Amino acid sequence: MANPAYPVGTVHLVGAGPGDPDLLTLRAARLIEGATTIVHDGLVDPAILALAHPAAKLVSVAKSRARHTMKQEEINALLIAEARAGHDVVRLKGGDPFVFGRGGEEAEACRAAGVPVQVVPGISAAMGAAASAQIPLTHRDSASIVSFVAGQCKGLTEQDWSGLAGKGRTLVIYMGVATSEAIAEKLMADGLAPDVPVAVIENASRPEMRVLRGPLAGLPALVADNAVKSPALIVIGEVTGQPDTIVSEIAQEAVQ
Ligand code: SAH
Repeated sequence: MANPAYPVGTVHLVGAGPGDPDLLTLRAARLIEGATTIVHDGLVDPAILALAHPAAKLVSVAKSRARHTMKQEEINALLIAEARAGHDVVRLKGGDPFVFGRGGEEAEACRAAGVPVQVVPGISAAMGAAASAQIPLTHRDSASIVSFVAGQCKGLTEQDWSGLAGKGRTLVIYMGVATSEAIAEKLMADGLAPDVPVAVIENASRPEMRVLRGPLAGLPALVADNAVKSPALIVIGEVTGQPDTIVSEIAQEAVQ
């Protein structure tokens, strides 16, 4: 068994990191190799799933238009049933299981059912994207506070983000591509200057990664003109660089 400290029939909530298999933790890699059942979401890279034992049962619970998408309760029930059937269950999630990953709900459900559960951290998209794009989330000269927010929650306009962005702060927005216009408006209405630099990092740590930069006021156009798609992160703050470096960077990318 991959991790002798846990009995057979444990659910391991494992972070798969931002995409590149090299960014898995050793524990995650060992658990994936040893699991008899792997339940994974859509953000997990195929190269990571390829580490699974050929006899392992792989179940995708990715959101899909083509087939019925499993509700959270159904996923919880599946994890519990597989563990009770004596499997070492790896529940594999993009990034970190406890950052916008519903890992909390799954851990609770397992505990309530008396199923042993282990949580294995992963490199969250914010860390993966920051490293790949060489954007320090904190910097002694420009940011000593960093916040992570979800841009896709219900009632985005009602969420209080005041004070999360601005001088000395870095704001990282997950799931914000589709709502980038509302996000830019919201932040400017909160008093953020239109020329605060932002970066959009698409497919961080993957070969097809793109990094786009611009001023906050231009965020919706940056996303639309470049047809940015999920998964992508928006980073707001001075650490992302000066807006006047944008043009050359985008031009360079266009040439490549
Ligand atoms: N648990 C995950 C987050 C899941 S929410 C984590 O810790 O990273 C899904 C969002 O994460 C995506 O909409 C996107 O904003 C972000 N994301 C995940 N992987 C990414 C990647 N490789 N590049 C950029 N953003 C990513």
